[in-house]
Amino acid sequence: MSHENTAGEKISRFLATPRPMLINGEWVAAAGGETIPVLNPATGERIAASYAGGRADVDSAVAAARNAFERQEWRRMMPTERTRLMWKLADLIDENAEELAQMEVLNQGKPIELARHLDAAGAAESLRYYAGWCTRIEGITTSDLSFPDLRGGSARGPAYHAYSLKEPIGVVGAIVPWNVPLVMAIAKMGPALAAGCTMVLKPAEETPLTTLRLGELILEAGFPPGVVNIVTGYGHVVGAAMAEHPGIDKIAFTGSTETGRKIVRAATGNLKKVSMELGGKSPVVIFDDADIDSAIAGAAEMILLNCGQMCFAGSRLLVHEKVYDKVVDGVADIARNTKIGPGIDPETELGPLVSARQRERVCEYIESGREEGAEILLGGKPYGEKGYFMEPTILTGTEPHMRVAREEIFGPVLVTTPFRQAADITDVARVANDTDYGLVATIWTRDLSRAHSLAAEIRAGMVWINTPLAFDETLPFGGFKQSGWGREGSRMSVDEYMESKSVIVAL
Ligand code: NAD
Repeated sequence: MSHENTAGEKISRFLATPRPMLINGEWVAAAGGETIPVLNPATGERIAASYAGGRADVDSAVAAARNAFERQEWRRMMPTERTRLMWKLADLIDENAEELAQMEVLNQGKPIELARHLDAAGAAESLRYYAGWCTRIEGITTSDLSFPDLRGGSARGPAYHAYSLKEPIGVVGAIVPWNVPLVMAIAKMGPALAAGCTMVLKPAEETPLTTLRLGELILEAGFPPGVVNIVTGYGHVVGAAMAEHPGIDKIAFTGSTETGRKIVRAATGNLKKVSMELGGKSPVVIFDDADIDSAIAGAAEMILLNCGQMCFAGSRLLVHEKVYDKVVDGVADIARNTKIGPGIDPETELGPLVSARQRERVCEYIESGREEGAEILLGGKPYGEKGYFMEPTILTGTEPHMRVAREEIFGPVLVTTPFRQAADITDVARVANDTDYGLVATIWTRDLSRAHSLAAEIRAGMVWINTPLAFDETLPFGGFKQSGWGREGSRMSVDEYMESKSVIVAL
């Protein structure tokens, strides 16, 4: 039997019964007993059920995580041992990669090759990166203090010895979205576990499956009970209960800016720390001297990847007027010829949107663009008889004040605008920065001086020059302005899960 078929059979068995939640190392039903149907977005059919957790379930999971934190089994485990466990989990993800990839496709809709590469392999590699940090957590030391004694008197030189310690923040609540579920779970879990925290993880209600399968692998790897707990359920119930929970020390969130605001408000009770990776309205800027064919292909990828459901989607295309028609026609050609279909079909390049609700939202945006005077060059409608497919859509004649140009659509919808031949770097930067968001920007030009000058002017957490979609965990990723607080990737992400303590000793 082929590798793919074996994975399919395992998935069928996994989906046959309502999937329980992971609390304190045990698989449990929600206290209220209710379930949420899990749908296949390519067909709209129900494929499984997860439990609709409630406040009582969040309380149990937080108690388990707190207990695991206080027991110190995890945070005081030898760092090399923590690294080893995280590597073991990464190896288990690799061993079950085909199953995880197919499950993600069934539940989220993306093309299978993307799920294999980005979701399954990406999750394992990301976890390995963070595993390395367990043995690299260190503070600073100094013996040369100038002002250690506030009562006056001078203490020079070796009268004092001082050092700082990094300590885990405590219990983390991780709330993740539905676009890249497994990778988003690892993006929180990796740095939280490396820092020595324990956690409660909530997947999106639309896409709980791979996170729950990950829970099984966490137990198989041998993590102590309570270190990672998984509670499924609705955002306004489980997510909201986590955001206001006095037993949670930090919320790590990825999702919409609107929900991010709600979480910040709810977190004020115990002033828990909050880090947020929110939306974007990222510009792709193409100058007339760019390698136009690569720029066209890159611009298409930036809006079509995962059906536009990426926080870093390049949803605003800003093109020098001399090459505007060529670029827009080129992107439209690629989009028109993109094969739409169920992600499980290896020929598919564009899968469905995640849900009926998301497709309605995308259609409403397109309608608002039309009402405000934008023209639809391509697409604009739902696609096919069943499932939540959407035609790739290109809008022209858009103005900066239109909702389609300002708000995150989270679908395969590209807004295009020419910029004048006479525009200098400052003018182009002004257009690119004319947004409440600041997550990513892409620049296409052969003039390196112009590229770096514009990169310096852009208000965004990541700038790609002459390439789309370049990522690495060694670099911080996150947003300026309303695209978020904090960074994921690099040492900075581990720091987001730690407190710092300074100790001064009189000698
Ligand atoms: P959302 O932000 O509401 O959902 C993300 C996560 O937050 C889910 O786990 C959800 O259950 C949870 N959540 C919802 N309400 C909550 C609350 N009150 N308190 C705590 N947690 C809560 O996203 P959505 O409604 O599914 O999608 C809406 C829009 O959000 C999309 O159209 C898109 O623009 C944006 N979005 C962005 C990202 C991203 O990666 N930046 C991901 C998903 C959605």
